[in-house]
Amino acid sequence: MSKINSNIPKGPLSDKWTNHKGRINLVSPSNKRNIDVIVVGTGLAGASASATLAELGYNVKSFCFQDSPRRAHSIAAQGGINASKNYQGDGDSNYRLFYDTIKGGDYRSREANVFRLAEVSGNIIDQCVAQGVPFARDYGGLLDNRSFGGVQVSRTFYAKGQTGQQLLLGAYSAMNRQVARGKIKMYSRHEMMDVVVVDGKARGIIARDLVSGKLERHSAHAVVIASGGYGNIFFLSTNAMGSNVSAAWKIHKKGAYFANPCFTQIHPTCIPVSGDYQSKLTLMSESLRNDGRIWVPKEKSDAELIRKGELSPLDLAEEKRDYYLERRYPAFGNLVPRDIASRAAKERCDKGFGVNKTGEAVYLDFSHAIIRYGKEKAKISGKDPLDSNVVYNLGKDVVKQKYGNLFQMYEKIVDEDPYKFPMKIYPAVHYTMGGVWVDYNLMTTIPGCFAIGEANFSDHGANRLGASALMQGLADGYFVLPYTIGDYLSDEISTGKISTDSPEFEKSEKVVNDQIEKLVNNKGKNSVDYYHKKLGKIMWNKCGMSRNEKDLKTAIKEIQELRADFHKNVKIPGNKNEFNEQLAKATRVSDFLELGELFAIDALERNESCGGHFREEFQTSDGEAIRDDENFKFVSAWEYNEDPSKPILNKEGLDYEEIEIKTRSYK
Ligand SMILES: Cc1cc2nc3c(=O)[nH]c(=O)nc-3n(C[C@H](O)[C@H](O)[C@H](O)COP(=O)(O)OP(=O)(O)OC[C@H]3O[C@@H](n4cnc5c(N)ncnc54)[C@H](O)[C@@H]3O)c2cc1C
Repeated sequence: MSKINSNIPKGPLSDKWTNHKGRINLVSPSNKRNIDVIVVGTGLAGASASATLAELGYNVKSFCFQDSPRRAHSIAAQGGINASKNYQGDGDSNYRLFYDTIKGGDYRSREANVFRLAEVSGNIIDQCVAQGVPFARDYGGLLDNRSFGGVQVSRTFYAKGQTGQQLLLGAYSAMNRQVARGKIKMYSRHEMMDVVVVDGKARGIIARDLVSGKLERHSAHAVVIASGGYGNIFFLSTNAMGSNVSAAWKIHKKGAYFANPCFTQIHPTCIPVSGDYQSKLTLMSESLRNDGRIWVPKEKSDAELIRKGELSPLDLAEEKRDYYLERRYPAFGNLVPRDIASRAAKERCDKGFGVNKTGEAVYLDFSHAIIRYGKEKAKISGKDPLDSNVVYNLGKDVVKQKYGNLFQMYEKIVDEDPYKFPMKIYPAVHYTMGGVWVDYNLMTTIPGCFAIGEANFSDHGANRLGASALMQGLADGYFVLPYTIGDYLSDEISTGKISTDSPEFEKSEKVVNDQIEKLVNNKGKNSVDYYHKKLGKIMWNKCGMSRNEKDLKTAIKEIQELRADFHKNVKIPGNKNEFNEQLAKATRVSDFLELGELFAIDALERNESCGGHFREEFQTSDGEAIRDDENFKFVSAWEYNEDPSKPILNKEGLDYEEIEIKTRSYK
């Protein structure tokens, strides 16, 4: 069926990782000193990998396009990180985390990788606590947990609504120790423009110094891509503005397969779009669904009055509210997985129940939680639990302690007090499950080129459960790659320094230089954002939360036309030998315009609905996704073709040994 080999070790699922680690080849400490590794990206995946590889003794060169590794997009992660430690004694286990992740991903992920992820999840928390990451603690000083969607236990470790920031500071500190030792050479404000492949192996990269514009050649015995996700293909997303696909796309064009590009996560709780001139969307963390209840009015007429500003949600009686997630999915309620919650919100809004001016918002309401917590606190502190003012103030304090920074962020953006009025939220693009295809060792189809974190097609199948991206990124960087990369590098101990004077480096540099020359000298008339916005609209309207054959075919055509127009008519101010943000953006948008076509082709090819990939043709009468396990239980691993309209599809069959595949129900 397939030209690809996922290299999954033999043996029982629970022994695979232990046996594999015990048997793969190693590089001895003295040999590690002679081996160079390039890591592109300093988010949680890249920073943890760089720090660990350097600690092991490899010579690491780390690259990021920001002015500091600390500014990687990972810093934005809010809600938390999962680990199956069962600290709450609520029935959690490695197996349950594994099972939840496979089911959450709608049975489209690789069993062996997900089992390993669950196995190492506990180590991540220990590692981060040892680094001093200030995870939330309960009254007795023990690590606290909360819940995220698609699970019935509390396994999410968190640091208020700033978990990514705290974890990244931990990884960054670990990295800095190695920078001080001289084991990591840090290249900030450097963008990888191409990978250099020599005799079939990744041997280095071409990087551009974003400040001077100079192109540089860097060689290494292995290249690790940790460049994050490509949600910004939609223009508007919750990702950092700079997040892009270019590093992943460049290796794809040199031979790395790109897996499941159409698997995108649309997060249900984001601040709705407010106008045409917006460049970014803001996430309201899923953790809020622990306490917030989602609703819209039961009657369309009430929704209409709310939209016109003639009725306040506070005046709508309880029995006139539709808590549609609790109604449709009583077992998981507001904590159903993201794909399901997003679709349910869209369904209500499409039917006319939306509550903001554009009709594209639902409520996330904390009033019940405030009263519930307030009454509890009043009882504990000997105050009157029947005094509504006392209860409100005490309850508000509890909610503030848990989610204060998120509430503050909401108020600043929307200019409305979310303690008083329910938040208005709507789904937005958030995460990409698709990415560079990797085998069990996290190696791409280019020998010596690895991909970790959100950049790889990861362990999340067709839908990622909340708080599991940080888990996967740190698992990859701290606990998986540092072992598996040795298996490949053990063959490189006699290679010696790799020269950057080879024809391969020369050619790669020339191709990059030509592309840049062409862009800056283009006598076009439209800005880069003009094209990015247009692409985003095509993607959102035709390849977004729901897709159909007709729209996807139109999208492919429109993207092809837009790409041609971009190369003819884009205008880049300034020149190439200076800090030129528009030029950097143009190279990224150029890659998005290529990925967009593959994305739509992938979505068109997959004639089923699964996880975040919802094809309107494949749904039940009540709007649930219909998977087709007989024909689509595989990973689509696309091979690049010079003719972008004809990429080559390789299929990695997904054989489930342990888990019985069922209809995915959260009812
Ligand atoms: C608002 C928000 C909140 C989130 N909250 C959570 C959460 O609570 N829990 C959870 O598990 N997940 C969360 N996620 C998802 C999670 O944050 C990301 O999936 C994860 O941080 C990605 O980490 P990464 O290391 O793979 O990539 P990133 O953090 O995106 O880092 C990418 C790195 O690659 C570098 N880079 C990229 N391209 C190049 C190039 N060409 N050359 C040089 N450098 C390059 C960048 O400079 C950067 O250093 C959230 C996501 C968002 C958007």
